[in-house]
Amino acid sequence: MAELTKVFGIDLGTTYSAVAQIDEFDRAVIVPNDINEPTTPSAAYFESPGHVVVGIEAKNMAEIEPENVVQFVKRFMGRKDEFFFEYDGKQYAPEEISAVILKALVEKAQQNVNAEIKDVVITVPAYFDDAQRTATKNAGAMAGLNVLDIVNEPIAAALSYGVQAGGREETILVYDLGGGTFDVSVIRVDADGVKILVTGGNHELGGKDWDDRLISYIAATFETENGVNPLTDPHAHQELRTKAEATKKRLSQKMKDPFTFSFAGSHTRIEITREKFEEITADLLDLSIRVTKETLDELERKIANRKIDRILLVGGSSRMPMVKARVDQEFGLAADVHDPDECVAKGAAIWAVKRKIDNLAQQVGYNTQTGEGNQQAFNQALEKEIETVRNRDFYLGLPGKSGVNVSSHTYGILAIDNGVEIVAPMLTKNTEIPFVYESGERQFGTAFANQSTIELVLMEADGDSLDPAQCKEIGRGHVELPPGVPKGSEVKIWFNYSADGTMALRAREVSTNRECEVNIVRSGVLGIGEVKEAGKELAVLEAR
Ligand code: AMP
Repeated sequence: MAELTKVFGIDLGTTYSAVAQIDEFDRAVIVPNDINEPTTPSAAYFESPGHVVVGIEAKNMAEIEPENVVQFVKRFMGRKDEFFFEYDGKQYAPEEISAVILKALVEKAQQNVNAEIKDVVITVPAYFDDAQRTATKNAGAMAGLNVLDIVNEPIAAALSYGVQAGGREETILVYDLGGGTFDVSVIRVDADGVKILVTGGNHELGGKDWDDRLISYIAATFETENGVNPLTDPHAHQELRTKAEATKKRLSQKMKDPFTFSFAGSHTRIEITREKFEEITADLLDLSIRVTKETLDELERKIANRKIDRILLVGGSSRMPMVKARVDQEFGLAADVHDPDECVAKGAAIWAVKRKIDNLAQQVGYNTQTGEGNQQAFNQALEKEIETVRNRDFYLGLPGKSGVNVSSHTYGILAIDNGVEIVAPMLTKNTEIPFVYESGERQFGTAFANQSTIELVLMEADGDSLDPAQCKEIGRGHVELPPGVPKGSEVKIWFNYSADGTMALRAREVSTNRECEVNIVRSGVLGIGEVKEAGKELAVLEAR
């Protein structure tokens, strides 16, 4: 195994996760888990103190001990205040659960590879903010992994679909319908790299909603036939969920599937047709199309007349035939759907090799992004690394490729405008990052004469509303002023959003030259000390 390929890609999904690597033929492939399956349910079952089971066994235990099973934790990454899971007197943060899942994923995959799974790239949705990315990175560290990078899922998907930067210029729509979320991104591939132009989506829409519809339909039919509703019993509900998901998947292959179910001494056999399934879920598909159109409208506002050249269908739920049929019809292009639930992990493995090459370049003093430095030394070092590989072009095509993202949120500061408190935007959603903002001439000023302090409050807006009540405070600082500063005295503001997701905000009162830097506190993620402590605890936890 070449040194460069001793790296792994991990798709840490809401419902399923997968690990990938580059094989001896220099192709990205999935590393199967301990039961030889390509994906593993992102479910953790706390079996006993010190022992956690991850995967299908855990998913099944949700039927028997729902209180000891955690699923869909990705929805809470970077939002630890909204998440609650306690076991054996200990409360867990979302990133700790993700760390447990990662640890078990690696353990399961390790049985099927020769190299140690240590250096990894983990994927995140393009809309994840810096708190969510930090939480994901920390989850990797707590699981004992060396996280080389965090990469956006649509970029990873495009890479595994063979999209090569520096090759053909293309604008690609990535429609990603997973288990719990729906993400749409438009990406641009050109000589400079792969760039996300706009992102959109609905984070409450996914395969689980299709399952829920099927569950309701089966339960209602069961009740009509037998006079009892299985949904009144939590265990029967869980059993229905497992069986309904399996039927849904079979309906992607077959036109009908018989469903048998027993509850409270009654038995029912229901013939479920694909047609019926599509009818009871039609509005869910409509919603995904509406969201896609809204994202394309946003693209049009940003870049007029930008034609879509290709559509990639990603996410396990894209396997439902209704998805491709409808997307093709709505957008007039034949969408590509190859391995929708594996392509993100594979793309992450490709990105991991790219990061290794970048590191190699750095070691010999060459910058693959800018082309500055000692290119000859880099070429020699890379040649040496790929001496024995079968597909040299794969490696030679990777350096220099960059993955530019856009901000998934709007950021602004609290200000008073005509007596009303507002959020004055500095960086609007879907603006390319890294990004630097500097306030204009006399744009901000003190609100009244003799003001003793200027409060600087950094706000994050999730949606379009800039109403402070709808936004979230993520940082605060203040400038102390001496007496005598007149009303409207100019305050300069700088805001910096770097490519790695870190932010900095500074303010300076011009007449006194006093300034402050805002301490940006992300309450939704564990602090550095907590991550270290949790990492130690996890090291001795058995996660399988
Ligand atoms: P992902 O998060 O991308 O792995 O997607 C997981 C979702 O895809 C779950 O809701 C699965 O039930 C769904 N899924 C996986 N395979 C199929 C299939 N063959 N047909 C329909 N849905 C599927």
